[in-house]
Amino acid sequence: MNDVTRADFDVVMTPNYAPAPMVLVRGSGSRVWDQDGREYVDFAGGIAVNALGHASPELVEVLIDQAKRLWHVSNAFATEPSIRLAKQLVAATFAEQVFFANSGGEANEAALKLARRYAFDRQGAEKAEIIAFNQGFHGRTFFTVSVGGQTKYSDGFGPKPGMITHLPFNDLDALGDAFSDQVCAVMVEPIQGEGGLVAADPVFLRRLRDLCDKHNALLIFDEIQSGMGRTGDLFAYMGYGVTPDILTTAKALGGGIPVAAMLTTTEIGSSFVVGTHGSTFGGNPLSTAVAGKSLEIINQSAFLAEVTRKADRLFEGLAAINESRRLFREFRGKGLWAGCVLSHDYAGQSKTMADAALDQGLLALRAGPDIVRFAPALNIPDEDLDEGLARFERAVNAVRFDG
Ligand SMILES: *Cc1c(COP(=O)(O)O)cnc(C)c1O
Repeated sequence: MNDVTRADFDVVMTPNYAPAPMVLVRGSGSRVWDQDGREYVDFAGGIAVNALGHASPELVEVLIDQAKRLWHVSNAFATEPSIRLAKQLVAATFAEQVFFANSGGEANEAALKLARRYAFDRQGAEKAEIIAFNQGFHGRTFFTVSVGGQTKYSDGFGPKPGMITHLPFNDLDALGDAFSDQVCAVMVEPIQGEGGLVAADPVFLRRLRDLCDKHNALLIFDEIQSGMGRTGDLFAYMGYGVTPDILTTAKALGGGIPVAAMLTTTEIGSSFVVGTHGSTFGGNPLSTAVAGKSLEIINQSAFLAEVTRKADRLFEGLAAINESRRLFREFRGKGLWAGCVLSHDYAGQSKTMADAALDQGLLALRAGPDIVRFAPALNIPDEDLDEGLARFERAVNAVRFDG
């Protein structure tokens, strides 16, 4: 008998999640097992987190090694793994300085506070407006849900932080009218993840860059889901050729250990003077040691080329599966990051489809009611990719939509 069960979850956890009906106990590579010993192919990847699969031997080794040395000393003291990881991130990107946090929402919170403080320092309190986009997702802190573009996450919690303007994503016309010298920052996902794998038009990102330059505003790219090799580029901005002033990364950064980073330039970073911002756990040696290894593995051209090759295999497989029943009207996304958009006839049925996948032994994600989302490990072996696709095909053939 198990000492804890899925039924216990509903009793002792606040009801803000609705997890699948089993309890997972173990993972290895791109496979996981539940309490009953049933095995699953993992196309969910812990929501684009487990970039190197489960129990990656290289990450486990670093974790154990660091666990024996030093876990935590607080930010009153410097440690080697965080300095090393910051140097790696600076070497790999546009950035010159790094702030570490524990989650994506916190990294975005830091980015928004830094942008406001930078504007406040240089131009005064008036310059505080933040522009963001409908359907954007930036985390669950109160500031980040307010900047995020989905009222279902932000409303009903009392008065929201002000001076935040939401615009339609990819709409060039809306941009021109909205910009003024009051704008201190624009926060945008180059490819919206939770919003449904919607890629920014390159022209749209370039226009944002131009408008930010013109109005002295900071361009913040939230690459918490799109970053760390997910698209086949280390960060999606590299594929676009549009460079932000601040970039946030989390999810895959630690390959499963909680860690996040906000990257910026020395000039902008200078507004975070001693005492302006902080985190007890942010940048702790345990998580930054693991993230350092994860970044080292992912940031190699051969590794990233493999992501693109596997992505072709994934998207080709999905297109082939769709030929029989035509449940999907589009497969979108980039790299090992796919949004399977249900046809209009099956709108609102992404949960039914994801449940059908689970019945066949495949872990899948959703992005809203109409999209089944996949974000498997970036190093998923071809045979696991093929097996996952085979299970998805069985799910597509077996699923029955009611109502
Ligand atoms: C997941 C996500 C976040 C929030 O990250 P947490 O670690 O859950 O706080 C923010 N932005 C984007 C784009 C994300 O995908």
